[in-house]
Amino acid sequence: MTSADVTSKPTDNILSSLPAGAADPCVHCGFCLPTCASYRVLGSEMDSPRGRIHILKAIENGELEIDATVTGHFDTCLGCFACVSACPSGVRYDQLIEATRPKLNQTGLRAPCQNLFRQLLLLILPYPQRLRTVLQSLRIYAGSPLQNLIRRYELINLLGPQLKAMEALLPELSPSSFRDEHKVLNPANVPRRGRVGLVLGCVQRCFDPGVNQATLEVLKANGFEVVVPSDQGCCGAVTHHQGQLKQTHDFAEKLVRSFALAIGPGRPGGNEPLEAVLVTASGCGHTMKAYDALLDGSSNFGVPVMDVHEFLIERGLSKTFLGSLQPMLHPDGKPASIDAPLAVTYHDACHMIHGQGITSQPRQLLQTIPHLFLREATEANLCCGSAGIYNLVQPEEAAELGRIKVAELRKTSAELIASANIGCSLQLRRHLDGDVAVAHPMEILACSAGLHQSPSIQKSLRITKVAGEGDNRQLLPPAIG
Ligand code: SF4
Ligand code: SF4
Repeated sequence: MTSADVTSKPTDNILSSLPAGAADPCVHCGFCLPTCASYRVLGSEMDSPRGRIHILKAIENGELEIDATVTGHFDTCLGCFACVSACPSGVRYDQLIEATRPKLNQTGLRAPCQNLFRQLLLLILPYPQRLRTVLQSLRIYAGSPLQNLIRRYELINLLGPQLKAMEALLPELSPSSFRDEHKVLNPANVPRRGRVGLVLGCVQRCFDPGVNQATLEVLKANGFEVVVPSDQGCCGAVTHHQGQLKQTHDFAEKLVRSFALAIGPGRPGGNEPLEAVLVTASGCGHTMKAYDALLDGSSNFGVPVMDVHEFLIERGLSKTFLGSLQPMLHPDGKPASIDAPLAVTYHDACHMIHGQGITSQPRQLLQTIPHLFLREATEANLCCGSAGIYNLVQPEEAAELGRIKVAELRKTSAELIASANIGCSLQLRRHLDGDVAVAHPMEILACSAGLHQSPSIQKSLRITKVAGEGDNRQLLPPAIG
């Protein structure tokens, strides 16, 4: 399709919030095309960064206006920002799509059922209590023989692609999915080196609660006191990626307030200030690092927001913690050894690698585990298709990307996949069908240190526990949950 296919109408300047000519640096070289996830699965110029920039320039010049066709081409964009990393001319496509998305939410640009589905998702997903209420009714179903039956015979096809995608992403739910069990003040286990805050995330705490618990244990074991405000909600990432700016602003303000109210004289989080607010999900980290702009003058945390891997590498793991790390087991139950290391591949979440420039830190942390060998996937930079709610609202494109990504990860022959973003982990698990475990690097570290056994890690991937000195090791008991 060419721009001529898009209805020509008076201008509606999408980019009014950006400096004039924000799209001008694009020289149409096409270097971004091979990295673009939507172009990869759709193969159409208008579903590539270059094509969308062309549309934006046409709108800016008054040659086009936003209509359903234009909206469709922007809706296929995953917001993965691989194009930003690839562009030699420094085009800030991330800023362009961020300025565009709010305009796509205008009435009449999407089919009413699509609007309703999006609105429903944004009314449930960023609210842990609402999400838990919905999940309660699905609790018996998740992981049950009925779910296996429905998946095996694809009976869910009868309900349409969106509901099919939702069902496929539904993980097995444990009791801890339904309550926040953390104390507000969590003292360090060893002499204190610092004091940090921890963001639990909205979807993560319900779908993968072991990540937060493992992170807490790793931080405490490294000498960090951790403050976890009990009334914290969503950071706003889910709505931010959908261009819902008012809702995002409200979430951001409430999250900042929950930390402010937890800390101070007589408050449950203690009086001393934090040195950083830590995040374990890359999508959340990306949005929270943009709070200064999003909050538009309202007060921010007053301390840096850091991804937990970034923080731990900057501060260093403690000697005691490093000494506690033990080899993990292969799926056949044999301990990893120098001759037979455990093969692990790290999946780069887009908002981590392209959004925050974090690539080496999670890998460095994983490599502190004895006899763990990292293998790199060939197309490590390709989006897995999760992208916030993309795998629910664009299920076909997302499923194709999920299949491509999983095939690439399988080629590494990794026995365990590390993923530091809840959306990616759910998407990868869906397409792996349970034959390779997916776990957050914090869960893997906590498991190796004998601090926490997450259900995400398969039974066969436990660690060996030092029972005494030397090689006298024994297996840990079965996993919690
Ligand atoms: S966005 Fe950058 S890489 Fe893509 S066509 Fe334009 S100049 Fe080339
Ligand atoms: S953000 Fe990702 S999907 Fe969107 S244009 Fe850029 S590379 Fe393509």
